[in-house]
Amino acid sequence: MTQPTTTAHPARALRELGGHAFGYESAGRLVRCAECGAYEGGVSAADGTVTPCTGFAGYGGDHGRVYLLVTVRPELRDGWVTPLIWRIEQTGLARTPQYPWRDGQLLVESAPSVVEDLANRIRGVAFDLAGRSRVPAAAAIRQLSEPAGRAVLEANRAAYLAEEEAGGEQLRRRFDALPAAG
Ligand SMILES: [Zn+2]
Repeated sequence: MTQPTTTAHPARALRELGGHAFGYESAGRLVRCAECGAYEGGVSAADGTVTPCTGFAGYGGDHGRVYLLVTVRPELRDGWVTPLIWRIEQTGLARTPQYPWRDGQLLVESAPSVVEDLANRIRGVAFDLAGRSRVPAAAAIRQLSEPAGRAVLEANRAAYLAEEEAGGEQLRRRFDALPAAG
């Protein structure tokens, strides 16, 4: 499957797009939604109205969004977060938004009708550590409303940007401290 690129119409308001995340397919010029897989031509009527996005097929046509905040066991935070995300996305019941991770907690998006099933499946995810088998990945799972989930993402993003900034400042200082060439 070709992965659509990111949203192709930044100038158009999101509500006009019915929640679809349209992007050009890497081959050809067809515009396709990264979530529901529908082509723009298929969901746009001649009068400009757009059928709202149903999200992932696994969301079952549910337009609502909720979030799960998964606290990952400390011993699994190093090296096991990516496999965990992979296992969660494999269920088809969730997706990982941008800036999903901070302070040992992973935020994933889902839909109200399937979120309970998703939480149960996440509880079943376990990894084999050296000398210990089947260590459950999640220490706790908390369900958040859409606004609450978005607030967490916004806080994660701010923290990430602040860290980037601090890292850049450190590099600059180190560079300034280097003896001049010559
Ligand atoms: Zn869509």
